[in-house]
This record gives sequence, C-alpha cells and structure tokens, in this order.
Amino acid sequence: MSNDLDIWRSLPARQQPSWPDQEELAAAFAELSALPPLVTAPEVRSLTDRLAMVARGEAFLLQGGDCAETFAANTADKIRDKVKTLLQMAVALTYGASTPVVKVARIAGQYAKPRSADIEASTGLPSYRGDAVNDITPNAQARRPNPKRMVDAYHQSAVALNLVRAFATGGFADLHKVHEWNKAFVRDSAAGRRYELMAVDIERALAFMAACGIDPDRTAALTGVEMFTSHEGLLMEYERALTRTEESTGEVYDLSAHMIWIGERTRDLDGAHVDFLSRVGNPIGCKIGPKATPDEVVALTERLNPDHVPGRLTLIARMGAKRVRDALPPIIDKVNSAGHPVVWSCDPMHGNTRDVGGVKTRHFDDVLDEVFGFFEVHKGLGTHPGGLHIELTGENVTECLGGAEMIGEADLGGRYETACDPRLNTGQALELAFLVAESLQQARAERDTHTR
Ligand code: PEP
Ligand code: MN
Repeated sequence: MSNDLDIWRSLPARQQPSWPDQEELAAAFAELSALPPLVTAPEVRSLTDRLAMVARGEAFLLQGGDCAETFAANTADKIRDKVKTLLQMAVALTYGASTPVVKVARIAGQYAKPRSADIEASTGLPSYRGDAVNDITPNAQARRPNPKRMVDAYHQSAVALNLVRAFATGGFADLHKVHEWNKAFVRDSAAGRRYELMAVDIERALAFMAACGIDPDRTAALTGVEMFTSHEGLLMEYERALTRTEESTGEVYDLSAHMIWIGERTRDLDGAHVDFLSRVGNPIGCKIGPKATPDEVVALTERLNPDHVPGRLTLIARMGAKRVRDALPPIIDKVNSAGHPVVWSCDPMHGNTRDVGGVKTRHFDDVLDEVFGFFEVHKGLGTHPGGLHIELTGENVTECLGGAEMIGEADLGGRYETACDPRLNTGQALELAFLVAESLQQARAERDTHTR
C-alpha cells in the first residue's frame, strides 16, 4: 500500500469509455469523492480473513450474480431473488460438503463492462459499456458516455447494498427460513426437490440443537449470514473516487465494494488497473484466461500480493472446458513453487460462451465440464479447489442451454433478458451447487485420507 494512488494516470488504461467532456468527468469525480463510502475498512478486512481460510483449504468461496447489473433491474424483487439463490447455493455447499462458505455477490456495483469494440458493428454506435457509462438503447444520444451515470451507479449501489445488508442480518437469511428460499418455479425441478429434502434435514438438525439446549435464536451464525459485495474494478475514475484512507491506520481501501476484481482484458502488468489495485488493501480477484502463461501469472501475483498475505488475492481461472485440464496445472504449479498463498477460484462461464444464431449463450454441460476439470486439476496437484465464480439470476430466465430443464436453442427466445452475458437461472445454479458440493465432499474425503 502506498500513497502513489495516482500513478495509474500516467499508465495505459484499457477499456475506458471515451468520455466526450472532460469537465463533466471532473465534476462527477469530485461529486463521488465527497460521497460516503459504500462499505467500511473493517468489513473489507474481515473478507480478507475469510478468504485466508479459503486459501488455507478451510472454506469455499461462492461468488455470483449478474454479468451486468442495470438500473432498471435494481428492484426489491430482483435483489431479493438473487440473494435467495446465493443463500440456497451456499446452504447446499455448506451442508453437502460440511464446509464454511464465504458468500460474495456480484451486486451493488457491477455496472461497467469491457467490450470487444469501441463501436458496435451492427449499429455503428458506441458500444454499451454498462449502466455506469451509457444506456443500452441503440441511439446516439443514449450511447454517449455520460460521467454523471457513475454517480447514478453509486446511488443505485447504495440502494441495493442497503437491502442486501437487511436481508443478510434482518431475519431473512435465518436458517429456519431455509424452505422459504426455494421459489415456486424451482420447487418442482430435480434440484428443487433435492433442496426440499435437504431443508427438512436442516430443520431436524436445528430442532435437535434446540432440544440439546442450544438456543438457535441467540446463535448469530444461524440467524444471519455475512454477505460481501464485489464488482469488476473497471472504471478507473469511479474506483479512484471511492478510494479512501482510514484515519486510524493510514491504510488505503477502495470502498466501492468489499472485493474488487481485475478482468481478463485489463490485467496487463504495466497497465493502470494492476497498478492502482496493487495499492489498495481490499481482497483482489484477477481473472486468468487460457492465454495467460505461468510466468505472467506469477508476475501478476508478485505485483498484487508482494507480501504473500493469504486472502489478499484470488485467481479466478476462466479457461473454458476444453482448456482447463491442460492450461491450469502449469500455472498452479508455478504459483505454488513461488510460495504464493492464493485462493484458486473457477469461473466456468467466460471461457464457454458460444453463438447460436446470433444469440450469445453457454451450455450447462460445458459449465459443468469446466468445473469438474478444475476439481480434477486440483486433485492431481493436491491443492484446494477454493471457489466458484458464476453469473446467475434469481429468476427463471432462458439464457443458458441445458440443465435438468433441458433448455434448448428454441427456448432461448423465451426469457432472454441479460444486458450482457447469459446467466444461469435459479434451477441451473442450484443444480450446479449440488454437483460442486459432491465434488468438494470427495476432495475433502481424499485429503483427509492422505493426512490421516
Ligand atoms: C465478467 O466477469 O463479466 C467478465 C467480463 O469476465 P472476463 O474478464 O473473465 O472476461
Ligand atoms: Mn460476463
């Protein structure tokens, strides 16, 4: 950590909007700089502590939410349903693998997107770069990058975060409500039925504990959860404006979210993003795609976590189902030999995107194949498959193919609502959680036999 927080301004910053008016940008930056932080430094440090448990193999990281949040979809129902889905997945993982689960939502700030082109080929308009930059409506006025939207994104994030906090500790996430998290449209699916059976078991366990004299109402771990927030740290001005120095310690944190990650397209060693995020104290994620070399990843790890702090850095592999088994092992090997205590997480979404008749989609089988490949790789190396990073909704959308409901190509038109990448619907997300829980359980059983 250091005070050289503005060195990034002299470095190449990829994927920034071409802000047309520098005065507007300066005004938005000043306004954001004067607003209260969205999260606090002690909360950020407790996430680092939780992630240190993951790095040591004592817990599992579940990170998920929209590819791109939108202002229009920032409603009570949608936030509640996303939180419910994460809670359901977390409980399936905790119960199925007897492992603490660190819950990090892609929420309350996931408003900026990297794009493959500045100008959208189909319309000739500036590309949609997320609601913090411009409006998805395809006309010139809407697509003009507008810095004021970063201020709007801040306020939308505050609104969402307020609800997430209330849901996490205000009774909604009480384990006694485990049945209520199962939505009607999921209940009749295979994953939904499996969930109901698990919920009955959990209720029985709670009743047993109560009968033994443990008062579940006085046990915070049963009546609430810790739910952290995260987003891609893409817009340099936004992240810089929300970065603050803690008075009591002099430490610097980006208080726009608990965890910030660096995307696959902005992780260049000499670029603005890596420099800036190397100087804030948050837990940092870094996406690692199939083109990353082991040397490059070690160099990134050195830059982002020079002090080898466990929990500081999560490497999120997004190799694709076809590449994960050969591309990931040499990277893990090299990072391990360099003595870096990272969290290894698997993003099985971004390496498995395909085009079906002009519609961007992903097949559940590819997602699963990459997750299984990730577990196989870690089993082979004796390392901890630490986490899962996915794009999901709390709704019954039809954006990804397959799963138990067998969503087919013809179904994609039904409820395809994403502003960017296709997300797993609740049934698919829950199905994935049960399968991951089984793999995790196996991994733990094997590790225990080895260490016995
Ligand atoms: C994302 O997480 O939405 C994303 C753009 O991922 P990546 O940087 O891995 O492509
Ligand atoms: Mn995405």
